[in-house]
Amino acid sequence: GGTIGIIGGGQLGRMLALAAAPLGYRVHVFDPHERPCAADVAADFTCAAFDDVAALERFAATCDVVTYEFENLPVGPLATIAGKLRPGTASLAIAQDRCAEKAFVEKAGGRPARWKAIDGPGDIAAAIEELGLPLVLKTRRDGYDGKGQAWLRSADDIAAAWDQLGGRPLVAEQAIAFEAEFSVVLARGADGGLAFYDSTRNTHEDGILRRSELPAGALVEGQVEQARRQAGAIAAALGHIGVLTVEFFACSDGPLVNEIAPRVHNSGHWTIEGAATSQFAQHIRAIAGLPLGSTAPRARQVVMDNLIGHDVERWPELVADPDASPHLYGKGAARPGRKMGHVTYLR
Ligand code: ATP
Ligand code: MG
Ligand code: MG
Repeated sequence: GGTIGIIGGGQLGRMLALAAAPLGYRVHVFDPHERPCAADVAADFTCAAFDDVAALERFAATCDVVTYEFENLPVGPLATIAGKLRPGTASLAIAQDRCAEKAFVEKAGGRPARWKAIDGPGDIAAAIEELGLPLVLKTRRDGYDGKGQAWLRSADDIAAAWDQLGGRPLVAEQAIAFEAEFSVVLARGADGGLAFYDSTRNTHEDGILRRSELPAGALVEGQVEQARRQAGAIAAALGHIGVLTVEFFACSDGPLVNEIAPRVHNSGHWTIEGAATSQFAQHIRAIAGLPLGSTAPRARQVVMDNLIGHDVERWPELVADPDASPHLYGKGAARPGRKMGHVTYLR
């Protein structure tokens, strides 16, 4: 037992808190919002800004170990609680800057799409020359669910893209004509031991994950071993403790790293019902120094569908379906693009 601190109070924090309870832990959530959905299922809640060092120190003093469910946190203020933080600040600092991340992935032996840092509009023409068209511009920081991205199909799109995203440091990435997308969700224990979940095939719509499914199909399955080698090397190079997710593009010539998330991940939600140990329980085990659990799947076929925005109106039908395992995050008003819940089917 003991107390686990979670920085960030969104649905990932909520599901982490729910998984900590059967392992005997109390949870203390830290978030700047007044009533984040994770606070509803936690024993304690501190409402303070992420850069409030004094509040972070008081919070950490009540916890045996502190983790985060959100990677866009200012790293500097975490220095004084770094001793209790798992995963550590290296995972956070790398994952929150797309350029630092890609350079790190390359150094660790992973293969990202070809990319170039963009610091001004003049760099975009140079990127087109170097990477070709089409390409995608992304904000280096703070992007999620496809926000902060613009596609360039011709040089005529430069001005509009700069208007949309400009003023912030960007990265240009070669557009990948992938065959499929998949993710490697792994846990790395304090002893460096790794546990991998089966890789789902992931489908995105408007930059937001729509569905994750198993089996992922022969093409993806044929690339999982190589992808695991890359993901495991990245986790080890970060000194990561906890769950780490690496998103991949399955291409005709092998897997390319899209991005990493130093945390539990939407494409791992299927593990709540679909694996012997959920990704949330696994993360708690890893950061608490417990042995990692089995990642064995519990069904041959698993489908996880997100409930995005008004999808949540399907709720009465989903709770009435005996084959469905529906989850609501308790987030209040449905807005377009907002992740309200998900539903998992095992077959
Ligand atoms: P999240 O962190 O919520 O997964 P994000 O905002 O960081 O999302 P990305 O993962 O970078 O966004 O991109 C979202 C989706 O857009 C990808 O899953 C993929 O479908 C598409 N995409 C992103 N980059 C590329 C690329 N270089 N080539 C082709 N498609 C891409
Ligand atoms: Mg991302
Ligand atoms: Mg992504």
